[in-house]
Amino acid sequence: MEFTLTAEEQRFRQEVRDFLRAHLPNDISRRIDRLGYLMHGRDSIQRWMRILHQKGWSAPNWPKEYGGPGWTEMQRYIFDEECWLANAPTLPISSLTPVAPVIYTFGTAAQKERFLPPILRADVFWCQGFSEPNAGSDLASLRTTAKLEGGHYVVNGSKIWTGGAHHADWGFFLVRTNTEVKAQKGISFLLIDMKTPGVSVRPIVSLNGHHHLNQVFLTDVKVPAENLIGEPGKGWDYGKFLLENERTASAFINQSKRELRKAREIAAGEMRDGRPLLEHPEFSRRLARLEIEAGALEYSVLRVLTHEKTRYNGIAVAAVLKLHGSDLQQKIAELQVDALGPKAPRAFSEEDEGNPDSDPPGMEKYVAGRTADYLIARAATIYGGSQQVQRGIIAKLAFGL
Ligand SMILES: Cc1cc2nc3c(=O)[nH]c(=O)nc-3n(C[C@H](O)[C@H](O)[C@H](O)COP(=O)(O)OP(=O)(O)OC[C@H]3O[C@@H](n4cnc5c(N)ncnc54)[C@H](O)[C@@H]3O)c2cc1C
Repeated sequence: MEFTLTAEEQRFRQEVRDFLRAHLPNDISRRIDRLGYLMHGRDSIQRWMRILHQKGWSAPNWPKEYGGPGWTEMQRYIFDEECWLANAPTLPISSLTPVAPVIYTFGTAAQKERFLPPILRADVFWCQGFSEPNAGSDLASLRTTAKLEGGHYVVNGSKIWTGGAHHADWGFFLVRTNTEVKAQKGISFLLIDMKTPGVSVRPIVSLNGHHHLNQVFLTDVKVPAENLIGEPGKGWDYGKFLLENERTASAFINQSKRELRKAREIAAGEMRDGRPLLEHPEFSRRLARLEIEAGALEYSVLRVLTHEKTRYNGIAVAAVLKLHGSDLQQKIAELQVDALGPKAPRAFSEEDEGNPDSDPPGMEKYVAGRTADYLIARAATIYGGSQQVQRGIIAKLAFGL
């Protein structure tokens, strides 16, 4: 496949690059460079999003009509790539990507007016309450119920692995509003203010020592009926719409390209037997193989973005990208940690990660955060649908098995 950016796309890339150079706060980019992509809290994201908002770029995937820049998929890809290159914070995915398109596609005029502008301004953050203790891959078996009583739904149940619930203002939840029909047909999409009485959030600390995940308990939570999106019983369809809407995001290709560069930097700095690791054939072969895999994945993403025709179903294509993208993330993280050798476990402590402005004594600047990223990368083959589930989707939708 021949692939080159148009003159207009090249001009756009330069505009984004110049903007990032001029406006991305140095302390934020330095911290992300030092500590990895997950190490920036709500404050940094909010500060960065507000800067982007001034430019009209705070919601790259939204149409102009709702305050987005109205970019093409290729422009969004270029923007994303430049942001990774510049060590900008990842924007709040749960707010911008899943819930907002559902609101502006299926919501009422009042819901659009109420919920979209605060997301654009980064005043409000969202979390995604889909998975439950006994409903992950098999989401249709979810048991959290919402019973309509007067003008309210009364919600009872529990959600788990809810990323960012502890600092989210609102959550979008899949709830069961009808138990009499086929499992998928009884699910609805409900917006819940996280400060409502009866909502409680219990932290789940991850293997890397960070608190991102939570279990959310909902006990007799009264939610105004006007917070239901679209029609009752259509929640499953809206969930599928989310999947089709962002076909290439789960490839995480720009993140992997950045981490490969970091792996190269580590291998150039680390010595084995008196010479840089990068000069050892076994290591450089392993690195080259991953760079080639990343190149192939990038082309697959670009084929989708340029709407190259495929005989495969869109969800199956997204599954292929997720399968390879998450596998690649893990292999790169493993390579980085292997390259660090005995320094890797030393870098895995709050103390080492604590101060982004000075290198811990005796440690090169590329060490901090690598082991924490390696550990959280284990989750990449689980969230957004496990590897086994993606393979099942490909077998069914692409090959009719
Ligand atoms: C870091 C992280 C962040 C997350 N963030 C969120 C979030 O913000 N909101 C949210 O709602 N959820 C979130 N999740 C939950 C995530 O979507 C689920 O973990 C995922 O869907 C898998 O479900 P499960 O954990 O219940 O595992 P299970 O579904 O119980 O799977 C267990 C094992 O069985 C395998 N398996 C299951 N079904 C099949 C099948 N049909 N064929 C073959 N193998 C199968 C799986 O591959 C897996 O190996 C997050 C998870 C992680 C790890």
